[in-house]
Amino acid sequence: MVEIKTNGELEAMRAAGRVVGRALAAVRRAAKPGVRLRELDEAARSVLSEAGAGSPFLGYRPSFAPTPFPAVICASVNDAVVHGIPDGYALRDGDLVSIDCGAKLDGWTGDAAVSFTVGTPRPADTALIAATQQALDRAIAAAVPGNRIGDISHAVATVARAGGYGMPEEYGGHGIGREMHEDPHVPNRGRPRRGLPLRHGLVLALEPMFMAGGRNDLRTDPDGWTLRTTDGSRAAHIEHTVAVTDDGPRVLTLP
Ligand code: MG
Ligand code: MG
Repeated sequence: MVEIKTNGELEAMRAAGRVVGRALAAVRRAAKPGVRLRELDEAARSVLSEAGAGSPFLGYRPSFAPTPFPAVICASVNDAVVHGIPDGYALRDGDLVSIDCGAKLDGWTGDAAVSFTVGTPRPADTALIAATQQALDRAIAAAVPGNRIGDISHAVATVARAGGYGMPEEYGGHGIGREMHEDPHVPNRGRPRRGLPLRHGLVLALEPMFMAGGRNDLRTDPDGWTLRTTDGSRAAHIEHTVAVTDDGPRVLTLP
C-alpha cells in the first residue's frame, strides 16, 4: 500500500533525514587512507546517538540474510556495490567507497547514500561517481506531481545507458516512511509515462547504482550480505530520500 504523508509528517521525515545527512557528512570527514571501515561506522553511530535517533540498519534481517546486519552503515568498497559490512578493512589510497546510512527519529525514517574516493582518485572512478550523481539529480528532478514512477526510472536508465554503465536488475529505490522499505518499488529502469502517478506527500528513496563494467549481474560474498560486481569492476551508489510536493521535489536527507 502506498502511503501519502501529511505536511506535518514531511517535516518529521525531514528531521530524520537531516540526521542521516549529518551522519554521512561525518563518515566522509573521517574517511582517509588507513582508517578502518569499522571506524566509519562508529562516526555514524555517534551522530545518530547524539541526535537520539535509532538505526533501521542495525539488526535488520531481510529474508535473504543469514545474520542480522551488524552496523548502522553499509560500507561498500571498490567492486562492492551495496550492503557491505563495515569491518576491519583499512582504506587504501584510491579506494572508491559507497556508504549507505539510515536513521529513525520519532518513528520516521531517512535513508541516503554517498560515493566518494579516498586519497588520489582514478579518473574512471571520478567519472563513474559523477554519472551516478547525475542520474540521481535527474531522478529527483522527475519526482514531481504529474509524472509517474516510470519517468524516474527512465531518467536513471538514460544516464546509465549513455555512460555504458551496468545496473543491478533487482535493486532500486522504494517508498519510505515509518518503515525503511515501503511501497512502491522504484526500478532504476523503466518506461516513461508508466507506473504509479506521483502526488504531493509521496516520499521515495531514489538510489541509482552504477557498475563500471557494464554488466547487470551481482555476486554475493560468503558473508551473505555484500553484493559485488561479477567482473570486478567498480561501482557507485548514491541515494536521497525525496518528497514529491506541489512546490517541487524536496530532498529530506541533506545535512
Ligand atoms: Mg539506503
Ligand atoms: Mg534505500
